[in-house]
Amino acid sequence: ATMPPLLSAIANAGRHGVLVKSAVVMERLGQVDAVALDKTGTLTEGTPRVTEVRPLPGSGLDEDAVLRLAAAAERPSEHPLARAVVDAARARGLSLPDAEGFSSAPGLGVTATVEGREVRVGAPARLLGDDSAAYEEVEAEGRTAVVVLVDGSPAGVLGLADRLRPGAAEAVGGLTALTGTAPVLLTGDNRRAADRLAAETGIHDVRAGLLPQDKVTAVRELADAGRRVMVVGDGVNDAPALAAAHTGVAMGRAGSDLALETADAVVVRDELAALPAVVRLSRTARRLVV
Ligand code: ADP
Ligand code: MG
Repeated sequence: ATMPPLLSAIANAGRHGVLVKSAVVMERLGQVDAVALDKTGTLTEGTPRVTEVRPLPGSGLDEDAVLRLAAAAERPSEHPLARAVVDAARARGLSLPDAEGFSSAPGLGVTATVEGREVRVGAPARLLGDDSAAYEEVEAEGRTAVVVLVDGSPAGVLGLADRLRPGAAEAVGGLTALTGTAPVLLTGDNRRAADRLAAETGIHDVRAGLLPQDKVTAVRELADAGRRVMVVGDGVNDAPALAAAHTGVAMGRAGSDLALETADAVVVRDELAALPAVVRLSRTARRLVV
């Protein structure tokens, strides 16, 4: 028997490295007319590196002490920034004490008790608010800044940098051509880091400093305006937006389990060029179905 067009399209999508979870999803991909992309781990490789460690005056801690406490608190986290902090500490030969009472808040950061001290590592604007002097120099360089709080007091700022995925600009260009509008960037990171990445890829609409629920609101606004929105993301923080999307797509390698389960399709090899390709496959299959 000849395979029905949507099933052949699923097989073809598989060859492009995209796992499409059902024929219904394969059909919906071709209806997409707006795209919202996450930044960290989606548009970027998701393997950031710590580029600087700045102890804050009055903390009484040096670079190694700040990094050691931060890494100990981050060790249980699966967030890309957490892995970068742990790797940086290990690269300096620091041995990490055990953390107790670990908890993490998607889009915010982590908290744990290390050697009897409460250590928080996370988004500077959320943890320090308007007191931006400590981290604005780091952000001005286009870096992702995270702040380290020890027993409630700001102890240090870490700067991290991530690389754009190869093929990101081409994928954005392809999606722009297919949908008639450039994708929107939705990120929990700071505006300057987000704007820099956007400029390199041809994205103009950047929403920064978003919590997971803010990403949902952004997707709903597009849907309310009549758009069928594809959301592409990797993190636990993206799961609510993936669920709210017309079509949710998760990055397979960098992706958290929750994102992979919530999404309708998975870019198994994290190859962004596959995104415009599957939209085209769907459109072709849909023409054959009718
Ligand atoms: P994105 O939307 O770009 O994928 P996230 O929502 O995962 O980013 O994170 C947003 C911000 O929250 C980060 O830029 C960082 O400041 C902070 N953050 C989240 N998780 C962590 C963590 N484990 N360690 C430090 N900071 C974190
Ligand atoms: Mg992400």
